[in-house]
Amino acid sequence: MNERRNVVIAGGGPAGSATALRLARAGVDVRVVERAKFPRRKVCGEYLNAGAVAALDDLGVLDAVKAASAPLRGVRLVAEGAPPVVLPFRRPALACAREVLDAILLDAASAAGAVVEHARVEEVMVDEGWAAGVYVRTPEGELEERPARYVVGADGVGSVIARRCEMTKPPPRSARYAVGGHYAGFAGLDGHVEMYVGGGAYFALNPLSDVRANVMVVVPKERLGQWSRDVDAGLGGAAAALGRGVRSFEGVTRLGPRVSVGPLAYATYVAYQADTVLVGDAAGFLDPFTGQGMFLALSGAERAAAAILCALETNGPLWDPLEEYARWRARDVAWRGRLSKAVALLVDVPLLARRAAERIQRFPDAGAALIDALSGIVPPQRAFRPSVLGRLLA
Ligand SMILES: Cc1cc2nc3c(=O)[nH]c(=O)nc-3n(C[C@H](O)[C@H](O)[C@H](O)COP(=O)(O)OP(=O)(O)OC[C@H]3O[C@@H](n4cnc5c(N)ncnc54)[C@H](O)[C@@H]3O)c2cc1C
Repeated sequence: MNERRNVVIAGGGPAGSATALRLARAGVDVRVVERAKFPRRKVCGEYLNAGAVAALDDLGVLDAVKAASAPLRGVRLVAEGAPPVVLPFRRPALACAREVLDAILLDAASAAGAVVEHARVEEVMVDEGWAAGVYVRTPEGELEERPARYVVGADGVGSVIARRCEMTKPPPRSARYAVGGHYAGFAGLDGHVEMYVGGGAYFALNPLSDVRANVMVVVPKERLGQWSRDVDAGLGGAAAALGRGVRSFEGVTRLGPRVSVGPLAYATYVAYQADTVLVGDAAGFLDPFTGQGMFLALSGAERAAAAILCALETNGPLWDPLEEYARWRARDVAWRGRLSKAVALLVDVPLLARRAAERIQRFPDAGAALIDALSGIVPPQRAFRPSVLGRLLA
């Protein structure tokens, strides 16, 4: 094992930047290697739940983020066969374009002393079975070494770090795909995230301002295949069908490119092994329907940075804080995954959706508690109490 006190992080998205920011502030010599030139677009619904907002506050960047965001009041959910449901947010949530948010976080990491390098991580350097840094491909095409005591994979879904260290699980056979973009011209945007759900698909609209919205339509792979001749027509048709007369693309204009991503599934066996730590989506990915990804990236970064600091200080074999980080991550993601599946069941099965809609009207506290669990305000397991999901399903 080497004795260095430095850390190299693959990926300068929210997970990588937040980890770097925390480590740099603690005096660690940290380098972020990011393949994209910032500001860059990232396919995302761009909803920041209350837990993510609190994490940004803790990082000291909330004022900058707020200045570029729109406040959100709640979510309006329209499921097939059920009346619309409004779930208010009890704590501040925001809509913020990722090209702005991610640049704020990476700039903050750089200002705190992290070295930010524009290059592509291609391989993990290995010394006697332990990670010893990464090989990067520079913009000039050179393959160079970046030695480090710890390697952090924060390079998102399909992480090269996770793949090279054989931490990635085989992909599932069926998964959904997302297509969307930024649009202008939707009438009546009122600070609610709007979700229109049915038939294993959904149409999510997140108001980035009074006039501009992020739109994501998520469909099974087979449906996407049917759009191949005219993706815009397929997308508009799906939005109109899911929007059920309330929303459609009529009269709206796309601002910038159409974006797509999929399959929306990716998992790893473990978030730490042999001096390699995975953070954010690189460690695993939840279906984005419940909007927990940014919170997971930022809360995971906080835990991972604390564990790395502790490991750098103790450097002892008796207790490994990084093993503990991996155990926390596995537990947390397992509960969040269960919660996502429970919510998917509630909104995808018309009979359950109708019952849940009625119950939320009768027991608004149960709906509020569900939002708190999804937003990282309380642990996800709290949603499984009889007073929350039990009440909505009974
Ligand atoms: C369709 C969709 C909608 C979503 N909507 C929401 C939402 O509304 N709210 C929410 O909270 N979450 C949402 N998510 C999830 C959220 O986008 C992710 O959880 C979040 O981006 C995770 O951050 P990250 O830093 O782990 O990864 P990323 O944001 O993916 O960042 C990874 C970074 O690594 C860089 N990188 C990759 N490979 C390399 C390499 N080899 N070398 C160097 N750099 C590399 C990339 O360029 C990128 O900048 C959504 C996701 C999808 C797909």
